[in-house]
Amino acid sequence: MKAIQAIRGMKDIPPAETPVWRRLEDTARDVLTGYGYHELRPPMVEKTELFRRSVGEGTDIVEKEMYTFDDRNGDSLTLRPECTASVVRAAVEHGWLRGRGQRLWHIGAMFRYEKPQKGRYRQFHQLDVEALGYPGPDIDAELILLGERLWQRLGLTGIRLEINSLGSREIQEAYRQQLVAYLSAHEQELDEDSRRRLTSNPLRILDSKNPDMGACLAAAPRIVDCLDDASASHFEELQAMLSASGVAFRVNPRLVRGLDYYTGTVFEWITDDLGAQGAICGGGRYDGLVEEIGGAPAPATGFAVGLERVVALMQSGVDVPGVRPPHAYILAVGDEARRDAHAMAEALRDALPGLRLLVDAGPGNFKRKMKSADRSEAELALILGEDEIRGQTVSCKDMRGDGGQQAVARASLTDALKARFDFDD
Ligand code: ATP
Ligand code: MG
Repeated sequence: MKAIQAIRGMKDIPPAETPVWRRLEDTARDVLTGYGYHELRPPMVEKTELFRRSVGEGTDIVEKEMYTFDDRNGDSLTLRPECTASVVRAAVEHGWLRGRGQRLWHIGAMFRYEKPQKGRYRQFHQLDVEALGYPGPDIDAELILLGERLWQRLGLTGIRLEINSLGSREIQEAYRQQLVAYLSAHEQELDEDSRRRLTSNPLRILDSKNPDMGACLAAAPRIVDCLDDASASHFEELQAMLSASGVAFRVNPRLVRGLDYYTGTVFEWITDDLGAQGAICGGGRYDGLVEEIGGAPAPATGFAVGLERVVALMQSGVDVPGVRPPHAYILAVGDEARRDAHAMAEALRDALPGLRLLVDAGPGNFKRKMKSADRSEAELALILGEDEIRGQTVSCKDMRGDGGQQAVARASLTDALKARFDFDD
């Protein structure tokens, strides 16, 4: 029979890679806790309507990337393509925004039917950070500082920050008309994708990576020149706060985001070390979304980190955490010794909580079990045979050093292991 394979664009994360993921997740959790953010775990499936309303009908995500299906009741459900909408839905549903703000985060899988390639998958993972109920540039600055601290704690360098402001909905509408007028006049310079977007999502054309359109887009009207006073001073204050904290940034007037809900501040963290998929984090303000989803109007801002891309960056560094081999490997020969092995192992685990101990399992003679002990990369083999049972000892064989072997009394085995290993690291 033909073996069944995983779905295209959906990867297994093998045991050799999970230590890097864990370091990333643990570091993120630490940093977020330090800034007073709390974890929320929303479901992975939501009503399709939630994303249609929030992400927006004309976006790539809603138009062609969602995993949407009818459940057995005939309700249209969608595997979340992003989770800002879920976080907002949860906060509104549970009344968490009444009279106060919420700082929330979530880590989990997202699903988009995209063309799989390096750094772009159909199931991928995001760290999502959202601050709901805060209107000012201070919280935008906090999110950016938190991001910068995360990169620094992970030891990542060469990540640049680009920021822009998209203004209010009204500004965006007026700007859209200006932009469409300009781009229509230059239609012969646009590629096919951009021509299509001229009617569906013209702002997104600015985001095009096609070098042939570079000159045309560089000369296009800029949204930062159209901002109202409130948006302009919010954006200026944000820049002043970032400068005061020593954060380097570049204003990129062509930075727009792929989702409809953004208003005001938007930003991206970008690296040049990953080829075409260089955006490792994107976010911004979405002051209209809470109301759109049915809550009382409340300002909000947030960002999402693409974890696969950050893991790839970590893997290109020098200090990559790997799988940790066991300290010791117990192998027992003979029926009585085999019965005793687990009792001995459990006593060691009770006494030494940091101990990584493998107990040999399965059939095989002594030679084969020694081979398994070697393959486990354990430092010590703890051998239990008839002689050892009779004498209440264990033979400890050094598997990495000189290969020497010595008999240790069962009663002093815990102390012998304590003397040899530092279980705190
Ligand atoms: P891109 O421009 O790379 O398509 P995006 O604007 O669609 O990104 P967002 O929706 O803002 O991205 O998601 C935030 C982050 O999630 C991105 O910066 C990226 O790091 C990551 N990301 C988005 N889509 C994917 C994907 N299909 N596979 C892996 N990571 C992704
Ligand atoms: Mg995308």
